[in-house]
Amino acid sequence: MTPPVGAARGQWPDDLLDVAALRAAGQRPLAFREFVIKVHSRCNLACTYCYVYEAADQLWRAQPHSMSQTTAEQVCRRIAEHAERHRPASLRAILHGGEPLLAGVPLLRGLSRALRDRLPAGTDAEVVVQTNGTLLDDDVLRLCHQEGIRIAVSLDGTPEVHDLARRDHAGRGSHARVSAALRRLAAPEHRDVWAGILCTVDVTADPLATYEHLLSYDPPAIRLLLPLGNWTDRPPGRTADPSRTPYGQWLATVFDRWYHAPGPPVRIAFFESILDLLLGGVTRTETIGGAPSQLAVVDTDGALTLSDQLKSAYEGADRTGLDVHRHAFDALLDHPGVVARQLAARGLAAQCRACPVGGICGGGHYPHRYRAGNGYLNPSVYCPDLIALIRHVAGVLRADLDRADGAGR
Ligand code: SF4
Repeated sequence: MTPPVGAARGQWPDDLLDVAALRAAGQRPLAFREFVIKVHSRCNLACTYCYVYEAADQLWRAQPHSMSQTTAEQVCRRIAEHAERHRPASLRAILHGGEPLLAGVPLLRGLSRALRDRLPAGTDAEVVVQTNGTLLDDDVLRLCHQEGIRIAVSLDGTPEVHDLARRDHAGRGSHARVSAALRRLAAPEHRDVWAGILCTVDVTADPLATYEHLLSYDPPAIRLLLPLGNWTDRPPGRTADPSRTPYGQWLATVFDRWYHAPGPPVRIAFFESILDLLLGGVTRTETIGGAPSQLAVVDTDGALTLSDQLKSAYEGADRTGLDVHRHAFDALLDHPGVVARQLAARGLAAQCRACPVGGICGGGHYPHRYRAGNGYLNPSVYCPDLIALIRHVAGVLRADLDRADGAGR
């Protein structure tokens, strides 16, 4: 099926997607289930790969540093209004930045309470703080226990690897401070507020040393993220040569260690999703599998935006012209940037729709598809790596199933 385009040339989706025609043809929107709330727009670290500050988009400079109480309450009103209209059993609010802990405990507490107080009966809210971990203290831990907020912390690997990119404004590495935070979260009295570790893959690092280091904190989950980049601004190490698959090999090495580990493995949604998809199930992450996106982002001034990771493409890539003060989240559902990510296979490039592993990959992570000139209607810039990884996982799974089959005879 060809994409529902309204013009022959231009950038996907903004110039090409005819939303009115799609709606008239019966394409219904899927309500938002994840709300990324930017409670603070600045950071106490200056990570070299940060998509907020180091990427093409510099509009953060015009954002208020912290979300005001008034805007936070309006965000909660709008989320409750959306839940009232669409009645999800659950939704997730991710308190994000910049560094969200810079917003201070009172704002985070007020926001979390206002959200839960306003949601209709029958809709639960999971509230998560995505933090760099350096500001975690007793007050933050108390807040999380009292309000039922969970904490996800970014850590990229061993001290040498982590401190290469994740430094403060004075150039000092942050590993020691993050490590101390993770040790506190791993303690029995705090473990239930710990959501896990977010690790951006450094393909130059030893994959097993990285994985074992993350495991040494005994996290409940690890979220592996490929560095942001695209066809115009390639990720580090992702050359134009499709025969080279450094990320595929890196991830396959970690997959093998994870998959063959004795005992219950740590949860890694990226690997679990590939296995589930190979077995006919569904994905658990927006980074693989091509599931319709149900994520909305609110900036500190209340602007409704698309995924903030699109900032890696070009200035203004995540802007919509909408905001919580004047618009409901339903207005954002009709933005071409949201509609395009809810089209499943129809929103994919021809190469992905014809791809032998397309049903598993789903075109990869949306920001990785960007190319200046035609937008997001491309395969992932990581395409060769994704093919290599998916084939590797499929091979491991097939061998395992064959063994089980043989043992059962
Ligand atoms: S592997 Fe490549 S061509 Fe296939 S679906 Fe993924 S990005 Fe598209």
